[in-house]
Amino acid sequence: MRRLIGVGLALTSLFLALPPAAPSARQGRGVKAAAAVAAPPATFAAERAAAERITAEGMKEILYYIASDEMAGRNTPSPGLNKTAEFIAERLKKLKVKPAGDKGSYFQRIALSKTEVDREHSGAQLGERAFKLGQDFLAAGRVSGEAEGQVVYAGHGWVVRAKNIDPYQGLDVRDKIVVVSGDGVAPPQGLPLAGLRGTDWESPISYAQKNGARALVLVPRTFERRWRGAAFAGSRPSFTVPRLENMPSDDDAEEQQQPEQPAQGLVSIIPSRAMLDALFAGEPLDGAAVLGAATAAAGAAPPKGFALDASKRLRLALKLSVTEEYTQNVVGVLEGKDSALRQEYVALGAHYDHVGESPATGCRPVGADSICNGADDDGSGTTALLAMAEAFSKGPRPRRSILFVWHAGEEKGLWGSEYFTRYPTVPLKQVVAQLNIDMIGRSRKEGDTNPANRMLTGPDEIYVIGSRMMSTQLAELNERVNREYLNLKYNYHYDEPNDPERLFYRSDHFNYAKHGVPIIFYFDGVHEDYHRPGDSPDKIDYQKMQKVARTVFILASELANAPARPVVDKQIPADRMTR
Ligand SMILES: [Zn+2]
Repeated sequence: MRRLIGVGLALTSLFLALPPAAPSARQGRGVKAAAAVAAPPATFAAERAAAERITAEGMKEILYYIASDEMAGRNTPSPGLNKTAEFIAERLKKLKVKPAGDKGSYFQRIALSKTEVDREHSGAQLGERAFKLGQDFLAAGRVSGEAEGQVVYAGHGWVVRAKNIDPYQGLDVRDKIVVVSGDGVAPPQGLPLAGLRGTDWESPISYAQKNGARALVLVPRTFERRWRGAAFAGSRPSFTVPRLENMPSDDDAEEQQQPEQPAQGLVSIIPSRAMLDALFAGEPLDGAAVLGAATAAAGAAPPKGFALDASKRLRLALKLSVTEEYTQNVVGVLEGKDSALRQEYVALGAHYDHVGESPATGCRPVGADSICNGADDDGSGTTALLAMAEAFSKGPRPRRSILFVWHAGEEKGLWGSEYFTRYPTVPLKQVVAQLNIDMIGRSRKEGDTNPANRMLTGPDEIYVIGSRMMSTQLAELNERVNREYLNLKYNYHYDEPNDPERLFYRSDHFNYAKHGVPIIFYFDGVHEDYHRPGDSPDKIDYQKMQKVARTVFILASELANAPARPVVDKQIPADRMTR
């Protein structure tokens, strides 16, 4: 599961309830009626038999391999991740699961752009003072080049014509280096943008480009975090997914402001606090005020722009090399037996990547052990999906098809699921539900007083997130299956989009939900070994994994055999849901 990233985004009226849907045949079997009587042992008889192929022992064997040091923490991209992908594909082939990636393979290839900085040939100069890349400033984009000029400060840098907001009034940015409080991509909190970019509003980046500025100095809201990250990153390359950066036509205009997206076309940097202070020494605003404007609360009056002392000339040189690399989702389909319904899919998902073996990739080392094995996160989901694929392939074939997707790059920002849902290899509209399994292998032991395990679920308990957000029927079916089967304790604590932990946004199901697919996310809770080397296969509660995987298997079977797909009766508005 992805680390929580502070975004401070106010989400209002997230869920718009629609009138209740007509009762389906499925509901006719009666949730309330079922609750009143003891579970009849014959429920799901055939499915139970198939579910029994999902065993603690079988999963233990797989997980010990996937979470071994050999995989080096399955960072995206890495040889260990590719090896894991090959392993999954091999097993799918043996199980006769149909390849459903690109060109008849199990892999959906994802091109990555890899940026490396050349410190030797990069630097900055303000008068006599020299600044070093990595120490005094960071590259904010992927543009190499040199720029020199006088400096202007443009407040938050956003122009909104309808509101008469124009921080460039009386300023000429031509041939200048422009400083803005913000990342240049995400508008300040509380600044409404409506209409067309370029006509009704303008971002600092597009304004600078159109008006002949030479470079940008960005002071993002996430300034502190960017510098903390940089301290770890050292000289390691950074990766992005180019095909996720260009907005598809079906996404709303608001989404054009992806945070952290670097400025295209212009050399852009993020200064250190010391460089910022040097730049603004003796000016109407000092470095602290410029930074303060970037992190100001919604509605705060933005500072006015001004030209800095004309004798200050800033010179920037950035040398970056950008190359291409690849990673992949692993995708397979077990075709349903019903000739019509097999065009519909019940999707099962997990992420097979993790955070590697370095603080730069998100692994928090403890002592000498530096490999984050990711047994629970999300080796447990990866393994559960393989066990379910086996149970489905050997058991009675359901009417609908089962789609298995092992996502890559989840830890980097839900890359694999965003990629799959934007470039799906099966029609997304025909995916009736997505069940996401991310961390189901750990349980809180009795008497455990470690505060880090406070929110970890017990051996018979699991967090259920998102099941009630989009489809009442899906939520009820999930409840009924559990009640009539293993009767785990479903914990709905995090089933709430405004929860401070923001779990709904932190794993792959989120991207399916964004596209209107009803989802359920199964999750065991954050624990002491989360994103640490201690998340190892010996600490997994395999009995719990078995219980949860079997339950999800029965639910998937029921969904795949139901006469009708679950009705989506609530929508998540296309909000600016920054992860
Ligand atoms: Zn994680």
